[in-house]
Amino acid sequence: MSDDPKATQVDKTDAEWRAELTPEQYRVLRQQGTERAFTGAYWDNKVSGRYLCAGCGAELFGSEHKFDSGTGWPSFWQPTTDGVVAVERDTSHGMVRTEVHCARCGSHLGHVFPDGPRPTGERYCINSVSLEFVAEDQ
Ligand code: FE
Repeated sequence: MSDDPKATQVDKTDAEWRAELTPEQYRVLRQQGTERAFTGAYWDNKVSGRYLCAGCGAELFGSEHKFDSGTGWPSFWQPTTDGVVAVERDTSHGMVRTEVHCARCGSHLGHVFPDGPRPTGERYCINSVSLEFVAEDQ
């Protein structure tokens, strides 16, 4: 395994990530970037289904936990299962935030804020580009 503490189960070099991801995915997932609000594929997606990690395919979020936060990013009040995402203190850009990344591959997903709806009161503010949506079978 690499000595990157975020690379928990998927051990890829930076060059491998860069080759596999689109430039925008690489910028967000591997360089902690943020897509512009209201530009992503999923902020307004209301279809039932699963949201997988765009880096490794792990199932991270579900439509049953998605809500309209008005922010322009897909927002969830909890991940699909405990432990599928991990958090880290982020002091970049002159703010203190809680960064959220995929527990399996370490890819950056977004941030979590304590102003979400019940029952958790949490708002996972996630970049669309970090996710791959799979609609539920109808
Ligand atoms: Fe992942």
